[in-house]
Amino acid sequence: MNSRDRLAALKQKNELRQLTPVKRLASGQLLMQDHAGRPLLDFSSNDYLALSGHAELIEQSRRFLDKAGCGAGAARLMSGDLAMYHLLEAETAQLKGREAALLFGSGYMANCGVIPALMGRHDVIFADRLNHASIYDGCSLSNAKIVRFRHNDMNHLEELLRRQRGKAGALIVVESLYSMDGDRCPLRDIVALKEKYNCLLMVDEAHATGLFGRRGGGIIEEEGVTDRVDIAMGTFGKALGSYGAYVAADRPMIDLLINRARTFIYSTGLPPAVIGASLAAIRIVRQQPELRHDLFARVDFFKAALRDNGLTDLGPSQIVPILIGDSGRAVRIAQLLRDQGVYATAVRPPTVPRGTARLRFSITRHLGREELAHTATLISAALRAS
Ligand SMILES: *Cc1c(COP(=O)(O)O)cnc(C)c1O
Repeated sequence: MNSRDRLAALKQKNELRQLTPVKRLASGQLLMQDHAGRPLLDFSSNDYLALSGHAELIEQSRRFLDKAGCGAGAARLMSGDLAMYHLLEAETAQLKGREAALLFGSGYMANCGVIPALMGRHDVIFADRLNHASIYDGCSLSNAKIVRFRHNDMNHLEELLRRQRGKAGALIVVESLYSMDGDRCPLRDIVALKEKYNCLLMVDEAHATGLFGRRGGGIIEEEGVTDRVDIAMGTFGKALGSYGAYVAADRPMIDLLINRARTFIYSTGLPPAVIGASLAAIRIVRQQPELRHDLFARVDFFKAALRDNGLTDLGPSQIVPILIGDSGRAVRIAQLLRDQGVYATAVRPPTVPRGTARLRFSITRHLGREELAHTATLISAALRAS
């Protein structure tokens, strides 16, 4: 099949994705080209704490840019190992309560680098079915055997561990907060299983870093299992408002990754401006827990408004899913909301399993109470109308 036919087939299935250029306003609203200049409320950003436009991030970013220029110029194992990376790694390790940390170009690159660095063709990886695509791509690159367990189903995981653990290396990989459903993994149970079956455990905290735990370290911190998780991974591109990613672990693990993670070894270091912003973000997260408390007050307010409109099953986090089922209906409702000034994404296969298309509302500190209440009313009207 040529590209044209393949695109037509995607369109037929309501699975065609298209780019839509936007302009981000300081208010957190979006201007989309095809919307006649009318701003949309953005319910699909991961800028949860509204740090991406924070004055301190911008100032630090500028300062690092002025001081060190635009690009790192080389990979870190060549001549690109800027001292500022070590500073950010030390701050990140502290935030995560671990001995050491290592920066990656992005979360996607971290997952694609770490997993093949640890697992090989004789090993087995136990992965939650709803894990992010970057985790699955990392698993594929490792050539290890991939065993998927039903989402958050510990009985299934244990059954698979019993049958498939084998004698070689084994890794369990999960997310602490799932990006499409906004639900959390049963982390303590997973830690117990990883110890019982002697596996490594890797936890992706992309949507939890900066939001949970006393220090803002994430759900691993909140659950009190910091030293029992072998590899904690997360991104600077979501709640931290910047770009890039980290892995936190003990020193030998980090030293091994420096030697074995190909997406680290064969890629240029992050730009100085990005490092400045990430450093500022970590400091804000540690010093201003009131930001995350304020976010969750808004989340609670939005869910209460949805419940007043008869909606239930809204999940435990800042990512609020509304299950629709059929992809076509999800797209129609998303469009209806967009026509009324609300931008939320219809999440469809292959991102989620077939028949479980949903609308996903991600709450950020850009969204005020009035806007949240108004949106809840629009959602329930749109559900009734389609
Ligand atoms: C967003 C995300 C990533 C990728 O992080 P980037 O820094 O955006 O590349 C990895 N894992 C999960 C669970 C994510 O949600």
